Amino acid sequence: LTSGLESAWNKLKGEEVLTKENIAEPMRDIRRALLEADVSLPVVRRFVQTVSDQAVGTGLIRGVRPDQQLVKIVNDELVKLMGGEVSELVFAKSGPTVILLAGLQGVGKTTVGAKLALYLKKQGKNCMLIAGDVYRPAAIDQLVILGEQVGVPVYAAGTEIKPADIARQGLEEAKKKNVDVVIMDTAGRLQIDKGMMDELKEVKRVLNPTEVLLVVDAMTGQEAAALVTTFNVEIGITGAILTKLDGDSRGGAALSVKEVSGKPIKLVGRGERMEDLEPFYPDRMAGRVLGMGDVLSFVEKAQEVVSIDQYEFPFFSLQNLLFDMTARIEQMRQEDAEELQKKIMSAKFDFNDFLKQTRAVARMGSMSRVIGMIPGMGKVTPAQIREAEKSLKVMESMIEAMAPEEREKPELLAESATRRKRIAQESGKTEQQVSQLVAQLFQMRVRMKNLMGVMEGGSLPALNN
Ligand code: GDP
Ligand code: MG
Repeated sequence: LTSGLESAWNKLKGEEVLTKENIAEPMRDIRRALLEADVSLPVVRRFVQTVSDQAVGTGLIRGVRPDQQLVKIVNDELVKLMGGEVSELVFAKSGPTVILLAGLQGVGKTTVGAKLALYLKKQGKNCMLIAGDVYRPAAIDQLVILGEQVGVPVYAAGTEIKPADIARQGLEEAKKKNVDVVIMDTAGRLQIDKGMMDELKEVKRVLNPTEVLLVVDAMTGQEAAALVTTFNVEIGITGAILTKLDGDSRGGAALSVKEVSGKPIKLVGRGERMEDLEPFYPDRMAGRVLGMGDVLSFVEKAQEVVSIDQYEFPFFSLQNLLFDMTARIEQMRQEDAEELQKKIMSAKFDFNDFLKQTRAVARMGSMSRVIGMIPGMGKVTPAQIREAEKSLKVMESMIEAMAPEEREKPELLAESATRRKRIAQESGKTEQQVSQLVAQLFQMRVRMKNLMGVMEGGSLPALNN
């Protein structure tokens, strides 16, 4: 949709209200984008209808462009369609919580079982896995190995046993051992068949599970709606887990789950490592399905930042720089983000980092893309981009005039007017420009801290003379 939605945006430029006529083409684009993301056709139809109805009736918010408003409606509806908020796992009020995993073969049930055990173990739950795929000895071994890996006991009784019987035995064992959460892995077939459903029904009857989670591969295309419907009607599910979101798929299956079953996706698998399991965030998924990555949350963040920001930036490029960095942080792998967060927390985000980041985003494409996303910025002209680049050069020359210890400890510059004066002279800029740059660095620290949800600390030092 990267191209699709952008052109939808452009088509609306200059319009003053959303009408049936002027949204027709953008809605076609959105429809196409959803189909490309493998959202099931009936779901797409209903969705487009809902959005259109809502868009046409809506009065325009002052200061918001009609195209942005349409995108916001699309996004909000997508989020709503996927359940709105994060849906937590439900735990039993007394006795062990039982989680039954179901799904076709190869979707990631066994992997999810172990991941989930680790996930809950980290929350202090005492877990046990039951190896319920009795058709393949390899499947039992796989779970036993994964269980060892995550340090969670696996109840297995070989292949000469009915799934319902192993469920009963496993549950008894769990009760004896005072286990908090029992997770039962089951066998899948390549296709839905009656045998599988009957067996699952039997297992469910025996376990009386708290959660029945349908494991769905994010690559599942258009069939997702039918698949979810069948499992929900036959077995009755309480939610779903979407796996393999680390792949290329845009994950259109995510849209079908809630829409056809009324049950939320609760967790997502994003990789083969045991740690790769996370809560499902409908808002992030909306961006992905639309093919816009984090653009939308980005726009929202940008709005937030603009409104909380009382500080006047002499270089408008700097704000964009900050937004771009924020987006990058969001897209980072967790470890990298933590690394950077540590750096920021220990106030190590210095002029060297500043310079590195500045250079990274100074490329024109990135600049104009970022600017284009900021509400109120409108279309950026080549002249403005040249202006932004020039201001980056100005910053660079001032940073280059800093001594290594000044780059590493911006406090030195905040504390000493003499140092700032020297830098001004060496770089041929005014003292005021240097002061602004120093203030900006601290401002960035504060804002990055805030944006990362770490609200404490981050004071902006006064510039001493
Ligand atoms: P099952 O047949 O439903 O039990 O599926 P498995 O748990 O055996 O997984 C099938 C394959 O998918 C294995 O090779 C897993 O490593 C892989 N897999 C499972 N979850 C994920 C995931 O979130 N991302 C990726 N990339 N691979 C996954
Ligand atoms: Mg399996």
